[in-house]
Amino acid sequence: MTKKQREMRLRILVSGILFLLLFAVPVDGLARLALYLVPYLFVGWDVLLRAAVNIKNGQVFDENFLMAVATIGAFGCGEYPEGVAVLLFYQVGELFQSVAVGKSRRSIATLMDIRPDSANVERGGQVLQVNPEEIAVGEIILIRPGERVPLDGSVLEGSSALDTAALTGESLPRDVEPGDSISSGCVNLTGVLRVNVERPYSQSTVARILDLVENASEKKSRAEHFITRFARYYTPVVVFAAVALAVLPPLVLGGSWITWVKRALNFLVVSCPCALVISIPLSFFGGIGGASRQGILVKGSNYLEALANAGVVVFDKTGTLTEGKFQVSKVVCHGLAEESLLELAALAESWSSHPISRAIREAWPQPPDPRRVSQVEELAGQGVKAVVDGSVAVLAGNMRLLETAGVFPPQPVDEAGTLIHVCVNGKYAGYLVVSDRVKPEAQRALEELKEIGISRRIMLTGDGERTAAAVANQLGLEEYYAGLLPGDKVDQVERLLKTKEGKETLVFVGDGINDAPVLTRADVGVAMGAMGSDAAIEAADIVLMDDDLQRLPAAIWLAQKTMSIVRQNIAFALGVKFLVLALSVFGFVGMWAAVFADVGVTVIAILNAGRTLKARWKPKAS
Ligand code: ADP
Ligand code: MG
Repeated sequence: MTKKQREMRLRILVSGILFLLLFAVPVDGLARLALYLVPYLFVGWDVLLRAAVNIKNGQVFDENFLMAVATIGAFGCGEYPEGVAVLLFYQVGELFQSVAVGKSRRSIATLMDIRPDSANVERGGQVLQVNPEEIAVGEIILIRPGERVPLDGSVLEGSSALDTAALTGESLPRDVEPGDSISSGCVNLTGVLRVNVERPYSQSTVARILDLVENASEKKSRAEHFITRFARYYTPVVVFAAVALAVLPPLVLGGSWITWVKRALNFLVVSCPCALVISIPLSFFGGIGGASRQGILVKGSNYLEALANAGVVVFDKTGTLTEGKFQVSKVVCHGLAEESLLELAALAESWSSHPISRAIREAWPQPPDPRRVSQVEELAGQGVKAVVDGSVAVLAGNMRLLETAGVFPPQPVDEAGTLIHVCVNGKYAGYLVVSDRVKPEAQRALEELKEIGISRRIMLTGDGERTAAAVANQLGLEEYYAGLLPGDKVDQVERLLKTKEGKETLVFVGDGINDAPVLTRADVGVAMGAMGSDAAIEAADIVLMDDDLQRLPAAIWLAQKTMSIVRQNIAFALGVKFLVLALSVFGFVGMWAAVFADVGVTVIAILNAGRTLKARWKPKAS
């Protein structure tokens, strides 16, 4: 609890006790009024003050106003205990609320713990402790066991295990050794690491995640917009209805004024919309916080809402359904020695970050020297063009690339796996077969999607028909489209967007490598493996920190859960409100019941909202 919350608790306790003592004091008249005013003002002065300030500023209708009018009215009718009780319970509800909001903020703040305080940098033969923001790319930092990795970089010396739980929710440590890249935010567990800094702090994994989480609450869901609008019209309507209730029946039916004024006051107390107004953003907040604990970053409640309505899930193949860890499994040459073919291909690929290019570079014993390469052009979904040693023109890519260059293999190649054809100086020089593996958890993840009600799962790929069919077959996917350029993927997604039904949304899941346009086009773009890819965090609406596909059903399930809690809260709060409102109009319930209804609904709704924070997807064991 914060200082303010403790203060409030004290005020509630003190005036609560005073209030109870007053029942035992037999006084009448003005003395009684004066005595009851003590706990009333002690517990509620801030509400009255806020109501007055708001009236002065011309923003009359809010809950402070409702409470002030209702309780002052109660005093006016001589119902002092009711007046005190209303404010007392109202404050209990408010305190409860602020504690709950603080709690879910803190759970997001545990994520904020990933912010590193300092880094040990080697400068001029010394190790200095400086703010990570002051460290430049290319400097060398030391990370000792127990310290948090302050900046993204690659390991130069030392080996260790990293705890990535803060980023991925995955508790298994990851082993790193020289050459591996590491992300800021992980905790170094066992050994000392010397690390070459590869990104300034402002672009590091940590800075991006913090940025993203901090801005998530700005993107509001439709439910939240609805509530804001609702409250704006609701409160004035309620106030006018209360006035009508106080004035019309006595005039028309000739009843007693005091009865109807009291009923109108009850009506005002019940109608306070706090439960609704607070519990809905709180549920989303909890959902987003709970997701981030599991390595799922959601950029706004609107995306959580859209994810809950997922009806079609479209996957990119490479790096999403498959591991994206290619290996060259075969080399076939035409008129060139195998070494030369591999060397040229590796050189041509030396600037690309595509997983295929890494495999090709690794197939050549030494790392290719990028200075030997010029005029590099990467054609997304096709391959690369480059000039080696200033004179040798090399193409490496799929059939589509060959076709645009007007080069063809001497005879059609019929081979399983992904083929990377190589042309040298406009002549066909052979091909490499690279193979990738389907992720071990992919099939389970796809089945789990079905379990939570998503039957339409589609694969899009730039790879050839044959590989695509093999992967689809292995995963039990009925629908797939092969041979697509990144632009064709956008067209496919647009076509699919037209065929889906009603409220259903289309989710696209990719690894962020050359699929940013599709990520932005889909209703919800999900990028995986953000610990590696730069583009992914920016283009996607939802980011899965590692590339475990099972986080996808987990995310959708959590979104569905959050929405159902939101709906429960709306239905429950409105239901109880309308019931008590109706009863109060006819005088069946007094102000006490009205207060209990209001505080009770608020507390229950808040507790219900809190469940989103803890919700965790447990797939059926299979
Ligand atoms: P996916 O749609 O499966 O994610 P991409 O769109 O990334 O695949 O790539 C589609 C195809 O384009 C690859 O199967 C490969 O044939 C070719 N390709 C893409 N980039 C490269 C590259 N750097 N080198 C060689 N071939 C490439
Ligand atoms: Mg891809």
